Amino acid sequence: MADSELRWHPLLREWVAVATQRQGRPQLPEDWCPFCPGSGRVPNDYDVYLYPNDFPAFSFENPSFSPEPGLLQTTGAKGACDVVLYSPNHRLLPSQLAVEQWGKVIDLWAARTAELFSRSEVRYVSVFENAGVAIGVTMPHPHGQIYAFPFIPPLIQRELDSALLYHREQSGCLYCRILEGEMEDGRRLVASNDSFVAFLPFFGRFPSEMQICARRHMGTLPELNEAERRDLASLLKIVREKYDNLYGFPMPLMMLLRQSPAAGEHPYFHFHIDFLPIQRSATKLKYLASVESGHGTFLNDTRAEEQAALLRRAEPKT
Ligand SMILES: [Zn+2]
Ligand SMILES: [Zn+2]
Repeated sequence: MADSELRWHPLLREWVAVATQRQGRPQLPEDWCPFCPGSGRVPNDYDVYLYPNDFPAFSFENPSFSPEPGLLQTTGAKGACDVVLYSPNHRLLPSQLAVEQWGKVIDLWAARTAELFSRSEVRYVSVFENAGVAIGVTMPHPHGQIYAFPFIPPLIQRELDSALLYHREQSGCLYCRILEGEMEDGRRLVASNDSFVAFLPFFGRFPSEMQICARRHMGTLPELNEAERRDLASLLKIVREKYDNLYGFPMPLMMLLRQSPAAGEHPYFHFHIDFLPIQRSATKLKYLASVESGHGTFLNDTRAEEQAALLRRAEPKT
């Protein structure tokens, strides 16, 4: 029997990944890190490294994803869960990574995305990072993750639907129009360079929610050219530094790279990165409680214009 399976939620019409082996994750000795050189689990001299998740919710070894009709449907959680190690240095925060190191991380993201796109079982590749103890991260070693899904996750599908609808009705790109508006307005801009712009979307759901949007209309990580990779590395560093300097400690956040699905044509989609922090002030966390988790309606305790001004001023310390 596979260690994980997908169960259909007929009320919400979406998949739930049931992966009970994750409960058996060992309590690791405090002075031992599997991601550190010398652990025996990673090469002794790596720079950036793709580490297969020890307790994957999705795996290519699971039975195939082939849903059958029925109220209590289950199917195989085929896919992949990788861990991306950003650096061999255990204590380095993502905000402390050199721009050059971020460049290597981006190259790894793009190469792994291309590899996963080439597999017919994969419908969506998500590159993301959970950062901070408050988010539930147990391992301080700087790392992110890559999930390959055998279906398009519901929030991605909703975005695709919105972008397609806008494209049909207005014959343009929803993201390009939003970016144009933000640049014209200026109040929510945080930082930018030749290839990317970082701003707090007018409609952000999380406190200090930020988006890095590509200036060029393109859809996926492998499409980034050399100059764009360099510019993205540089802006990622600036954004992470600003977040960590906003309240004077590492910002607990989720970083999500949004790209087009693995197969099919999606010319109306536009590559961007969402940052979802959960710190709503220096001393308070934002919890997803009944209104958010039970209704899908977010209460945001901050205003994008004010937070953007604070983030513009939160200059790197070095
Ligand atoms: Zn480590
Ligand atoms: Zn666009």
